[in-house]
Amino acid sequence: MKIVLLGAPGAGKGTQATKIAEQYGIVHISTGDIFRKNLKEGTPVGLKAKAYIDKGQLVPDEVTCEIVAERLKEKDCEKGFMLDGFPRNINQAEMLEKLCKIDAVVNIDVDLDKLMARLTGRRVCASCGESYHVSTFEGKKCPKCGGDVIQRADDTEETVGKRLRVYTEQTAPLIDFYKKRGVLYNVDGMKAIDEVFDEVKGVLDGLKK
Ligand code: ADP
Ligand code: AMP
Repeated sequence: MKIVLLGAPGAGKGTQATKIAEQYGIVHISTGDIFRKNLKEGTPVGLKAKAYIDKGQLVPDEVTCEIVAERLKEKDCEKGFMLDGFPRNINQAEMLEKLCKIDAVVNIDVDLDKLMARLTGRRVCASCGESYHVSTFEGKKCPKCGGDVIQRADDTEETVGKRLRVYTEQTAPLIDFYKKRGVLYNVDGMKAIDEVFDEVKGVLDGLKK
């Protein structure tokens, strides 16, 4: 199963990806997580990406596409994978088409005006990447792995505003792109997390038949 999780920043892609990985045993590939890992390790890719991430802009396609192409060659992707945060513009989607055939694009549909609160209240585990929200979790240690729970540097009001504009201008056109290819499935991301997952399972179980 080769799938793409599409949706605005804060739509719940990472949250659903963790559940999908647990239930279906497929690899979760988040380009944002890859950039943050590189940043933490101070690699050249991390240093290059930082300037863009801090401004809420997309990292240039040549850097991002190269990372994805290399990652998809790894053995754990043979049985399938789930991309989260990639592609984020038409050029990236066209590049992905040259690499493989995607079975389904699950678009997590949300009201954009609700996302500021989701993102500024988001907290993440610095070790395993699990997402939490201050409205339901106030701890400092991740219940899953014991790692430090922190706020992402790009989850400030100013940067979130920029990221949402980038989404509308560059990423939202992918909904039509994939609709035309007959692989788009919409789920209602405004529902509670488990209800969204029920919809996602409905889509993915349908694919297996
Ligand atoms: P994305 O990966 O799409 O940027 P996340 O999965 O990190 O988004 O979710 C962003 C924030 O919204 C997190 O704080 C998460 O706990 C919360 N969240 C995710 N899904 C839902 C949902 N269905 N309802 C309410 N809050 C949610
Ligand atoms: P995310 O974790 O998906 O919210 O991504 C965080 C940041 O990483 C984004 O705001 C971008 O700066 C960068 N990024 C992640 N994925 C991509 C991508 N596919 N193309 C370009 N930049 C990306």
